Amino acid sequence: MKTSTACILFFFAYTVDMGSERVSTTRLRLAGRICCNCKISLPPPHTPGEKFCTKCQASSGSKRRVYLHFMLLTGWHCQFLEADLKTPLPKKLTLPDPETLIQLAERGGYKAGLEGRQALEHAIETGRGGVWLELTEAQYRKLKRDGDDRKL
Ligand SMILES: [Zn+2]
Repeated sequence: MKTSTACILFFFAYTVDMGSERVSTTRLRLAGRICCNCKISLPPPHTPGEKFCTKCQASSGSKRRVYLHFMLLTGWHCQFLEADLKTPLPKKLTLPDPETLIQLAERGGYKAGLEGRQALEHAIETGRGGVWLELTEAQYRKLKRDGDDRKL
């Protein structure tokens, strides 16, 4: 008796916030067949319950390292690269001025300090450069979406 009640509660706990996700995806996620974060297929054996893939497991709770590359064209064009420096993230930003660029870098976890700040200012004078950011999971997810809303 106790077991079945627990099962029902467990079921309801998961069904309440399903709205934004396709039901089939939810089922796969809860069955432990896909990563609950990035949704890639997980290798068998599949056991019920939410699972992370090894990549997400490694990065869960920690910061995401992302490289911000910027260049002065008609504005400050910003592009973001994964830590491998090869994979571009979909989000691209065009910022109006260097101050906004510095703010973006600092909000993205750029540990400037005096030296870093000078390096960044030098890059801005040159008209191009890049810095490493340490993003939170939420900030990183914003970069995974396309669009130009000038926010991080
Ligand atoms: Zn994953």
